[in-house]
Amino acid sequence: MDQIVSLCRRRGFVFPSSEIYGGLGSTYDYGHYGVLLKNNIKARWFEAMILERDDIVALDSAVILHPRVWEASGHVEGFTDPLVDCRTCKLRFRADKLEDSQCGRKPSKHPGGTPECDLTEPRQFNLMFETTVGPVKEAGAKAYLRPETAQGIFINFKNVSQLARRRPPFGIAQIGKSFRNEITPGNFLFRVREFEQMEMEFFVPPADAERWYRYWIDERLGWYLRYGLRRSRLRVREHGPEERSHYSQGTSDIEYLYPIGWSELEGVANRGDFDLTRHSEFSTTKLEYVGPDGERYVPYVIEPAVSLERIIVALLVDAYDEEVVGERERTVLRFHPQVAPVTAAILPLIAKDDSMVAKARSLHEELRRRQSVEYDDNGAIGRRYRRQDEIGTPWAFTIDEQTLADDTVTVRDRDSLAQERLPIGGVRAWLDDALEREWRTPKGD
Ligand code: ATP
Repeated sequence: MDQIVSLCRRRGFVFPSSEIYGGLGSTYDYGHYGVLLKNNIKARWFEAMILERDDIVALDSAVILHPRVWEASGHVEGFTDPLVDCRTCKLRFRADKLEDSQCGRKPSKHPGGTPECDLTEPRQFNLMFETTVGPVKEAGAKAYLRPETAQGIFINFKNVSQLARRRPPFGIAQIGKSFRNEITPGNFLFRVREFEQMEMEFFVPPADAERWYRYWIDERLGWYLRYGLRRSRLRVREHGPEERSHYSQGTSDIEYLYPIGWSELEGVANRGDFDLTRHSEFSTTKLEYVGPDGERYVPYVIEPAVSLERIIVALLVDAYDEEVVGERERTVLRFHPQVAPVTAAILPLIAKDDSMVAKARSLHEELRRRQSVEYDDNGAIGRRYRRQDEIGTPWAFTIDEQTLADDTVTVRDRDSLAQERLPIGGVRAWLDDALEREWRTPKGD
């Protein structure tokens, strides 16, 4: 994890936030490549969830909702973690995660593991961030920053099912920020207080819920494999009844083998009719499906939910590689080409050669309209390749003396390091084809 954190910082993917003020623990800002990576992940999710299907529509709901939403959902009452304080080191811990935490005085021990540790009794701590709507704090209405995007979807069930003329099975998907006042954030982006969720609520006839639950576990697992995560680092873990949330009829975690061990990447839950029933009660608006021949029922909901942050950490861990090539070490991020922040680099071999620069610039102009490409003429060619390897650029096109003679360029493959020549006029089509090819990580299964 340390190597990944340091690479992310060095190459401008992710910075600790508020750094010039000393930082705000476990809060991060995304730099240029981090933003490009995030955009690609969101685009691949949006394709798989919406563009490639006929049964799911998009939504973008507000962050601050009516406070009653969170009463109906059970968050005001039950969205809590048990918290203990240590009177000795003054740190706070999640009572159910003491085994994953370090004692403030002796980091090799867990809290409570030394004679000096003096832990309080656990008390329940609500993870929702509170805020006030209105100009006067005292008179304003208490509200919350959403801790999940799902509730914004449930409260729009009626709008969407009527206006989009949908009948179950159909889904509503959204991407947006969620906020949780986590007691013990950490492990880089894995557990943060502000994160971007990608959630989809799939409404189905109750009798079909189990089948759709299994279907969505397989679909989501398939998505991770499609974008190159290694099979051996992914597993599905079904929750036992005692572990499930209050709303759940069945939950499975798609887990990834992070450096901290197997941990939840994405959750897939069968939420039953809990949410629509509760919002019907609390809002007095009936949220149900009424068929053309009078048939009516409250649909069950299957929900795949994940954060971009957990996907980013999994992709980085899976992609990170070091190898020695020609007695020199290189660090490379072996990203799937469709998630890599930069698809191709355009490199004139000699930055001072005007003709090479002109050809390289014109290729860059042609490609940048369709792809994320980067022009770079700064430094020795070997160093430029290394830079692109470190940000995970799958291909580099180099313009050299021969280009000036016969209008061909070399393309270098990030993973195999193979080089081939192709006509400069064919680069665009070559890149389109290469992006569509099936990709498997050279790191094996
Ligand atoms: P955990 O048990 O790890 O706290 P959770 O079961 O509370 O997670 P859910 O409420 O199911 O998580 O949230 C759905 C998804 O949102 C998770 O699978 C994860 O990808 C993501 N997520 C939840 N909390 C965080 C967080 N603090 N930081 C980053 N991502 C998060």
